[in-house]
Amino acid sequence: MERWKGFREAKVVKRVEENKYIVSLYIKVMDEEGELPDYLPGQFIAVKVPMDDGTLSKSRQYTLSSISNGEYYRISVKREEEGQVSKFVFDHVKEGNTIHITAPAGKFVLKEGNKPVVLIGGGIGITPMLTMAMAAEKEKRSSHLIYSLPNTEFMAFRDEINKLSGAHVNTTIVYTRPLETDVMGKDYDEKGRLTKEWLERNIQKDAEVYFCGPVPFMKAMYQNLLQIGFSDDNISFEMFVPGVDIRK
Ligand SMILES: Cc1cc2nc3c(=O)[nH]c(=O)nc-3n(C[C@H](O)[C@H](O)[C@H](O)COP(=O)(O)OP(=O)(O)OC[C@H]3O[C@@H](n4cnc5c(N)ncnc54)[C@H](O)[C@@H]3O)c2cc1C
Repeated sequence: MERWKGFREAKVVKRVEENKYIVSLYIKVMDEEGELPDYLPGQFIAVKVPMDDGTLSKSRQYTLSSISNGEYYRISVKREEEGQVSKFVFDHVKEGNTIHITAPAGKFVLKEGNKPVVLIGGGIGITPMLTMAMAAEKEKRSSHLIYSLPNTEFMAFRDEINKLSGAHVNTTIVYTRPLETDVMGKDYDEKGRLTKEWLERNIQKDAEVYFCGPVPFMKAMYQNLLQIGFSDDNISFEMFVPGVDIRK
């Protein structure tokens, strides 16, 4: 199918609440063949949703949170308490609803090759990292997926991450604030922040590193990586918040 320009109508065919804050929408474009353009791991679509008053929401970008499959697009939206669009999506968008989407785009993608990759996601920044890890697994490419989040209350995609963990993909779940009921070794692998010492001990130095997450997390990751010897050539990241330069 031709990659369309601008927005077109698409149908939400499935809705999955990953936790109390993140909802995944499985989306199909309603064309005759029912086909979707392929996309690269890390790319996003822009979305507009019909609001209660009949108008369309502002456009927001959401990373495709599973690999290209020709059948549906999946996005995973974190509900922001004060957010205009994400809150509406979480609270109101249901299976069967029509929304408006662009074709996939974006330059933050897993580069081709066979270099090992380190994929670090903080909070909802896990979405591109998860898709890249799925692609790495499919390509039998050595990769390390590191997911940093507060605790089990915020955990998403656990089954998918567990399934990925194996011969090619190593996974590490890091809780910054484990609950009293959280058990290390079962619910999570590491406690605390991803320090440069931890990264130095645990990630491959010849890897390409990709990361995404909240701004303070990204600033820390960038500095940590530089300090343990990575150069800009081997570091890629995606900002969910526009207009911030994490290098400063
Ligand atoms: C390339 C790209 C990919 C992305 N992928 C994802 C993804 O996979 N999943 C995802 O969930 N998001 C993703 N985002 C972010 C997403 O596009 C939206 O920015 C996000 O959902 C917030 O949109 P919103 O309309 O709900 O919030 P907005 O209304 O735009 O508000 C933005 C932020 O300001 C805060 N805010 C707004 N008003 C107030 C107020 N009065 N007081 C205090 N705080 C306030 C909100 O809490 C929110 O955090 C991505 C962004 C980009 C650029």
